[in-house]
Amino acid sequence: MTQLQDTAIHDAVIVGAGFGGMGAAIELHRQGYDDLVILEREDDLGGTWHVNRYPGLAVDIPSSTYSYSFEPNPHWSRLFAPGPELKRYAEHVADKYGLRRHLRFGTVVEGARWDEDSATWEVRVEGGEVVRGRFLLTATGFLSQPRLPDIAGIEDFAGTVVHTTRWDDDLELEGRRVGIIGTGATAVQLIPELAKVAGHLTVYQRTPIYVSPKLDGPVPGIVRAAFAKVPLTQRATRLVGTSILELLMVAGVLHFRDLPWANATGKRVCEAHLRRQVRDPELRARLTPDYDFGCKRPTFSNTYYPTFTKPHVDLETTSIDHVDAGGIVTADGRRTDLDVLVLATGFDLWEANFPAIEVVGREGRNLGRWWRENRFCAYEGITIPRFPNFFSLNSPYSYSGLSYFTTIETQMAHLGRLLRTMRKRGADVVEVTEEANDRFLDRMTGLLGNSVFNAGSCATARSYYFNQHGEAVLLRPTSTLSAAREATRFPLDDYVYLRKEVAALSV
Ligand code: NAP
Repeated sequence: MTQLQDTAIHDAVIVGAGFGGMGAAIELHRQGYDDLVILEREDDLGGTWHVNRYPGLAVDIPSSTYSYSFEPNPHWSRLFAPGPELKRYAEHVADKYGLRRHLRFGTVVEGARWDEDSATWEVRVEGGEVVRGRFLLTATGFLSQPRLPDIAGIEDFAGTVVHTTRWDDDLELEGRRVGIIGTGATAVQLIPELAKVAGHLTVYQRTPIYVSPKLDGPVPGIVRAAFAKVPLTQRATRLVGTSILELLMVAGVLHFRDLPWANATGKRVCEAHLRRQVRDPELRARLTPDYDFGCKRPTFSNTYYPTFTKPHVDLETTSIDHVDAGGIVTADGRRTDLDVLVLATGFDLWEANFPAIEVVGREGRNLGRWWRENRFCAYEGITIPRFPNFFSLNSPYSYSGLSYFTTIETQMAHLGRLLRTMRKRGADVVEVTEEANDRFLDRMTGLLGNSVFNAGSCATARSYYFNQHGEAVLLRPTSTLSAAREATRFPLDDYVYLRKEVAALSV
């Protein structure tokens, strides 16, 4: 029997206090909902920008673009702001938009169940408490469940092991023998920093990554002053940044079949960058990806490639056989002694996430099971049939464009329009129809056929864009403009609107 400790029925329960959850709360405020509870497992807000503290952490989308459009920050110190600035920006947003009073930290949500009788969500928190809300919004992030590599003997390592999401500021690296597993976007930022202090650094690479030049630098005081005094100047800068990212995504990735030259241009830019920075052809060959550009997320850095030319840095491409107390043994029997082992091994999206918590909707539909037994999909990347009053912000096909803020604001618009419509129609409960969801899935599946994911050569990329069924259903294969337009124009009758008394739906 469920023990209800918090007897209130809140307007909404939001899971996650990163930028996604905060954006949703701001939209709920705008729509007149003030009784919100934001449950966060960590001890502070900011999501990825609170959890990640590794050296070299910075945003890899231009900062003027990587922020809420309605809350520009004229004070970014660099074109690509360092991680701590993002964390401060999150704090500023929470203060300015009155979100702090809703926040509950250190609260691990185990699951949520739709209660048909009361037409509310019962959210189960670790320790037995249940929190109820009319609406449930999960903003648990895509990259929030750290993946520990399944490598034999890792628990026997006698030195220090650290995953990048659990960075220890006191970790002693000076002059030590450091090994790092992984060469994703995180490692690309971290490796040059490790090389500055380590006595010896060995980088274990399984799959090379495309790295393009980073047009970074400090933002001059005069520009910051202009951003502060004439916000239009920053809006123009944002527009330029967004347009470049959009071009990269739409032409280079989503229209791969129609515009192969655009994709090839992206690849050539990265290869030229590598050629300029690494003279040794053998080392260059090992750093060169053998899959198409965009199959997995490319990144930007001016310091990554040159790090491998330093005498105390080794690139190890032979696969890891096992770890023992002293270090790593590769498949050819070679052993490298290590003091510190850094796991830059990324995140589990498709098993531990999607969804990050157990969610059970109408008629006992279990979201995780349903997605796995059928196909991963959410209508417009946000709602799912038989999950009334539920907004899953980190859903299949939700990620639109390259800056996460594009996705967040598109979802805020969708949420706002739906809440306004509910009010107009006098409804308490809203649910997307199966038919609308199927139609959306068919359309996305068709569009993917044109993308690099389906039409390109991605077999060797090991990209987290692909799920366990081999489908690249993380990114929405449309332009961000199209996504934004649909958020304000989706057919309202793709949803069923009901009053609480008749909450038993039959769609
Ligand atoms: P990731 O891209 O998933 O990279 C994980 C790395 O670990 C890959 O190189 C992977 O190799 C390797 N790996 C995993 N398990 C392994 C094993 N058992 N043996 C050997 N290698 C193994 O994760 P990430 O680098 O943390 O980046 C994730 C995402 O975070 C990025 O794509 C980006 O979206 C985001 N990010 C953003 C920023 C930013 O500034 N905005 C910064 C950092 C990260 P395989 O490729 O062979 O699997």
